Amino acid sequence: MTATSTTPTPDRPVSGFTVHGYPRQGPNRELKSALEAYWAGRSGTEELLQAAAALRRQRLAELTEAGPGEIPTNDFSLYDHVLDTAVMLGAVPARHRAAVPDTGTAQGGLARYFAMARGTAEAAPLEMTKWFDTNYHYLVPELDPATPFRLDAAKPLGEFREALATGVTTRPVLLGPVSFLLLSKPAAGSPTGFTPLDLLDRITPLYTDLLRQLHAAGASWVQLDEPCLVTDRPEPVLRTVAATYDTLTGATERPRILLASYFDRLGEALPVLLGTAVDGLAVDLTGPAEANLDDLLAAGGMPGRRLVAGVISGRNVWAADLPAVLDRLERLRGAVGTLDVAPSCSLLHVPLDVAAEPGLDPRTARWLSFARQKLDELSVLATALTRGRESVAEALEASARHRASHRVSPTVHRPAVRDRAAAVTDAQLHRNHPYPRRSLLQREQLHLPELPTTTIGSFPQTPEIRGLRAKARSGRLPAAEYEQAMREEITSVIAEQEELGLDVLVHGEPERNDMVQYFAEQLDGFLTTRNGWVQSYGSRYVRPPIILGDVARPEPMTVAWTRYAQSLTDKPVKGMLTGPVTMLAWSFVRDDQPLAETARQVALALRDEVTDLQDAGIRIIQVDEPALRETLPLRRDGHADYLRWAVDAFRLATSGVQDATQIHTHMCYADFGDVLDAIADLDADVISLEAARSDMAVLAELTAAGYPNEIGPGVWDIHSPRVPGVEELTAQLTAAVAAFPRERLWANPDCGLKTRGYPEVRASLANLVEAARLVRSRG
Ligand code: GLN
Ligand code: ZN
Repeated sequence: MTATSTTPTPDRPVSGFTVHGYPRQGPNRELKSALEAYWAGRSGTEELLQAAAALRRQRLAELTEAGPGEIPTNDFSLYDHVLDTAVMLGAVPARHRAAVPDTGTAQGGLARYFAMARGTAEAAPLEMTKWFDTNYHYLVPELDPATPFRLDAAKPLGEFREALATGVTTRPVLLGPVSFLLLSKPAAGSPTGFTPLDLLDRITPLYTDLLRQLHAAGASWVQLDEPCLVTDRPEPVLRTVAATYDTLTGATERPRILLASYFDRLGEALPVLLGTAVDGLAVDLTGPAEANLDDLLAAGGMPGRRLVAGVISGRNVWAADLPAVLDRLERLRGAVGTLDVAPSCSLLHVPLDVAAEPGLDPRTARWLSFARQKLDELSVLATALTRGRESVAEALEASARHRASHRVSPTVHRPAVRDRAAAVTDAQLHRNHPYPRRSLLQREQLHLPELPTTTIGSFPQTPEIRGLRAKARSGRLPAAEYEQAMREEITSVIAEQEELGLDVLVHGEPERNDMVQYFAEQLDGFLTTRNGWVQSYGSRYVRPPIILGDVARPEPMTVAWTRYAQSLTDKPVKGMLTGPVTMLAWSFVRDDQPLAETARQVALALRDEVTDLQDAGIRIIQVDEPALRETLPLRRDGHADYLRWAVDAFRLATSGVQDATQIHTHMCYADFGDVLDAIADLDADVISLEAARSDMAVLAELTAAGYPNEIGPGVWDIHSPRVPGVEELTAQLTAAVAAFPRERLWANPDCGLKTRGYPEVRASLANLVEAARLVRSRG
């Protein structure tokens, strides 16, 4: 990309391409290695900073090579861009300032930065939460009226200058002031009624100053991300947005401002933005945000201004149908001053390179497009727009051909699966009888005490277990030996639970690398990758499976392990499955059919597994749906439709069993407020929920909503190694019993125990069993 060729002028509609951001990790996750070495004390500040600079150079070269366009900087981050923004604005909580005094050195700066991200012995880290409806997690800034805002422009300026020194004028990317505040939370002890947005007048001048400095350094454009504008925002917030951008654009010494939004339609925010004097808008035109195109045209377009059209999905991995994309882009011609093409959002959310997948069938590879391939697609689009489609006829033709071949491939189309999905009846979404009748039968069968004790599924994944799986995967451990080792692990997990006196046991999930990937590897229609890493948070990366085609279950997936576990004990062992919504939420999904359709196929595969477990003598089956809440659409008008198909998929997966078979589900991450009705609608016999950190608040909510079935509110927060005492657990259970009918309550931890160690698990579970006994005896 030559930076100069893209400086757009309103009367010269040059089409280029750009990206909002690019994966940070490097081709071999060099960033992860560098961070971990630094944290472990194996390397120093200088080495970490050099490794990061090398990665940025590499990205710059990659983007420059891809063709004419404008390259972003400051989208890179050592940990998280929201954290970067907080530090840039001086929003460091007092506890982190106290834990790591400011020494004014790079070393001190990093120590403080990582203290906010990861905590220290004295200071808890910032809370981490989902970045909109993606699987990226950001750190939540904590603000109050006393936050000592002060601009430190070193990072955006430094990265801009670093690129400029190699001859490339880049476009610095900044999280915009409104979204920064909306994504923050009030610090503990803030005055009542305070919201971070109250601080807008204090940070806007910092942004003005920053723009001035970037301008002085030679930046001609700057990107201000305001993704919060795609969520429902009341009128006063929108007025605040307009006022803020009037202030920012009112400054004379500044780069041109590209205001970027993504992930959904702008709706009522669009006219507000068009009413400001921003020089350009970057707008998502994919998926649910496709409506932005019509909205934009209906509003009269953006004559004289720059539109960065987000036409290639930045959140999915499919090669685009480029001629079809061009058709859409043509509609924008004449309606905008300058038209650039871009992904819908930062490419942070997709893996780096399809070419890094060894052993991938070349036909399948052509259906896929990771970050690098998306650059090529954008280059073709930009060329077609400037020089005509003829100039890239071959590439366009190939794109349409690959897309078509995907659609008709037998890998995608399994007529039996489609027929079965089409024939699903309403009766299949219902258990034979309502909960009260079922519960009688289940009580008869299961002989459980009041407040039955159980766990959420996984037991500690010790280094030995991980090692065994890794060895088996690489072929260094014969299958039979691996199986034997896993059986031994299951045997010991069952013995542990018997000894502790738990009522409903689990096999412990030692064979599972990940609750989604484990099933994806066994289901037809899913593709798992070797190097398709995507940042989840900090130095943590995940490899989401890709749903390539119709989903089917060639054979039982969990029955042998569960049956084995049950053979070791007279107590009921819970079967453990991952639900259809979570399977979709943590995978890359098909874009050629509605999500509801894909969910139904996964649900049918799970339905067979559920029935097989029952037939193998398993009397309790848990279908985890931790992601139910997190894929709720950003806009309220999308909620009802989503919840309908999500609930139906769960019911389809779980309703094929006899009344006496008890269905459990599990959800984590608080904030169930928006989906309480849907949770009841799942009609699981028992639901376990994360509740310890919110002191049972969720139980009160469910009680108020009249939740009709059984609940296990988590009483032990498993996210820390702390062992909760009998007294504390008794208090939690007593509170639960006070809030909810005791005959419908369970006693369990918040979530699975895989990240914990055995000593704290044993101690905590023993206390849990004891607390349940105490509360029972008090009747
Ligand atoms: N059954 C899973 C486990 O215990 C549930 C994990 C989750 O809720 N994320 O690990
Ligand atoms: Zn959980």
